[in-house]
Amino acid sequence: MPHFTSRFLDSTPGDPLQDTRSRQVLGALWSKVQPTPVSAPRLVAYAQEVVDLLGLDEQTLRSAEFVQVLGGNALWPGMVPYAANYGGHQFGNWAGQLGDGRAIVLGELLAPNGTRYELQLKGAGRTPYSRRADGRAVLRSSIREFLCSEAMHHLGVSTTRALSLVATGDEVIRDMFYDGHPEAEPGAIVCRVAPSFLRFGNFELCTSRGDVGLLKTLADYTLKHFYPELGEPSKATYAAFYREVARRTARLIAHWQAVGFVHGVMNTDNMSILGLTIDYGPYGWLDDFNPGWTPNTTDAEQRRYRYGNQPSIGLWNIERLGVALWPLLEEEEALVDEGLAEYQRTFAAEMSRRFSAKLGLSSLEDEADVALVNDCFAWLAAYETDMTLFFRGLSQVVTAPTAPRELPRVVRDAFYGEPPEAHVAKGLEWLAAWWQRTRREGVPPETLARQMDAVNPKYVLRNWLAQEAIDAAHNGDDSKVHALLEVMRRPFDEQPGREAYAAKRPEWARSKPGFSALSCSS
Ligand code: AMP
Ligand code: MG
Repeated sequence: MPHFTSRFLDSTPGDPLQDTRSRQVLGALWSKVQPTPVSAPRLVAYAQEVVDLLGLDEQTLRSAEFVQVLGGNALWPGMVPYAANYGGHQFGNWAGQLGDGRAIVLGELLAPNGTRYELQLKGAGRTPYSRRADGRAVLRSSIREFLCSEAMHHLGVSTTRALSLVATGDEVIRDMFYDGHPEAEPGAIVCRVAPSFLRFGNFELCTSRGDVGLLKTLADYTLKHFYPELGEPSKATYAAFYREVARRTARLIAHWQAVGFVHGVMNTDNMSILGLTIDYGPYGWLDDFNPGWTPNTTDAEQRRYRYGNQPSIGLWNIERLGVALWPLLEEEEALVDEGLAEYQRTFAAEMSRRFSAKLGLSSLEDEADVALVNDCFAWLAAYETDMTLFFRGLSQVVTAPTAPRELPRVVRDAFYGEPPEAHVAKGLEWLAAWWQRTRREGVPPETLARQMDAVNPKYVLRNWLAQEAIDAAHNGDDSKVHALLEVMRRPFDEQPGREAYAAKRPEWARSKPGFSALSCSS
């Protein structure tokens, strides 16, 4: 049986009260809170890779207790559950204390790889941070979080992981479109796994309250356990920490851009201090390459968190973190500026690296190369074209013996509809220029094709695929959840017989709720 510890509780101040009434919690980084039991927990799915990562054995997995713990009905030895206290900027405005309103960390486990991982239940009941909400999560959003955490991991994107998906047997009431039609939906709990779930918002809350002592305790805890290579706490170390978070965040967002992932709610309470993708809510994947697209209907007017805006929101969020760390940086503006510069530098370099690789180029060598990439973006955005299919298809074009003289089938197949001739002509011109450029790589085309297939996924968790799995699960059939998890394990491989999972969005899914547009309701 696994044995749990809780370094965060052991080394930082917590809330002296232990009731779950909503309240402002001052001078504390967390509140102890017990998960609220559920009626009939049932294991819908689990991720074998996370089981292995944690070193959980077969016997634990098969035990009746496993699902009870993952449903919040039982605890393993050493577990001391808590909810974290944090704040955040939501949609550009300071929102004050938020905190884990429905996420409860059970404890941390020393994994065979030497890393300690926290296990956190999302949807495990009310906490002092629940405000007026119920502390629960619905099955549809839990399926989405479970599948996407793992899909992202297998794509190589930094992310929190998901150990399990448990249906609670209880109903949860949600007004999915905030239009006055609340309905009962099945409840669920995802067990998330990460070295830490600390967010920018944990730091922001301390500073917003003028509690520099608490801020320092939090920063020192974070340095000691997650950034030990930066050295002992000092002004210079805090500055290095800030730059490193900026770097990781920039890398993360460049990676999102490269795979077409749109987070949907990049509030600072959803920004991991470790540079992980965290809090899968109304996220989505680009079908057609539209920089203006966001899956989040709650953000439909402003579209603050649209695909094309993620990079600058990342920078804005890094600036918020700089403001939060301001007292530790001894109010030296240059140190914040360095963090912001680090973000911009890293982001530019990573975008260049990732998109050149997607195009089979070892690097962007000159202005002409940069223009080639920019022309590609402009062309893709000018007419509805499936991003994933387009990039994946290029490995078939690169091996052609001559530059294409007509638009190849694989590229045509990526269109949603019939583009005007002028657009086709422009695409052909771009493809020919790109094909010529690939010849200068000095690498056999077959090798280039293999390298490109290793960075251009064939399978991503398209919104409509996830929604089909959700609909089936609502009808008692979990098999589509399992099937999707299986496919998303090997996103870069051809998987004969599973081509349907790589298909572009069907017309009927274009604007259907859930299939392409999602609210924050979860
Ligand atoms: P999110 O938009 O999911 O990142 O959540 C923002 C804040 O609302 C966080 O503090 C969450 O813990 C809280 N929250 C969201 N949904 C619920 C819920 N059903 N019950 C309690 N708190 C919630
Ligand atoms: Mg959140």
